[in-house]
Amino acid sequence: MIGNDKTQVSESVHVLAPLPYAENAMEPVISARTIGFHYGKHHKGYVENLNKLAAGTEFAGMTLEKIVAATAGNPDKAAIFNNASQAWNHTFYWHSLSPKGGGEPPAALKQKIEAAFGTVDACKKELATAATTQFGSGWAWLALDGDKIKVVKTPNADSPLTKNLKPILTVDVWEHAYYLDYQNRRADYVAAVLDKLINWNFAAGNLRG
Ligand code: MN
Repeated sequence: MIGNDKTQVSESVHVLAPLPYAENAMEPVISARTIGFHYGKHHKGYVENLNKLAAGTEFAGMTLEKIVAATAGNPDKAAIFNNASQAWNHTFYWHSLSPKGGGEPPAALKQKIEAAFGTVDACKKELATAATTQFGSGWAWLALDGDKIKVVKTPNADSPLTKNLKPILTVDVWEHAYYLDYQNRRADYVAAVLDKLINWNFAAGNLRG
């Protein structure tokens, strides 16, 4: 992660992580135009704002995770929390999608999902409900609570990291994630993402380490 090597000054500046696929890789579920704005304007903006806010403060040189932990719940630090958390959430979101997503989770993850929800479909249904009922901007997540997988929804920039939970998958439900393609039909965006793009391999990898 950024900021681990304290011997280089440049390491203390957060960089926009590369998109793990082409901007048009999610079509037709998510358009290149949506990904272009979402990654190139929104995500980039959070990283740039964070760098401005962190420069010359106690937060300069900290990892995103450390900044999120150090500022969560502190109204005086809301601006730096929001930008750091959104920078983290978006990189996690890009990896939660794959052009080859959807389908069945790998065996170990499937077993954990079935233990918690009964079936993969029941898990997807609960995730979709969280995503569509999150009022206003926010995120729907699968997260580990100890050894158990649960569905979590968070408003605005918040994430499971602030609740002692380990995120394993997310869906961005801010309007900027879907409005150009789906307008007000958030449920259609969520259903299409869960059926065609959701990256179970990424989620399975997050069960470890
Ligand atoms: Mn977003």
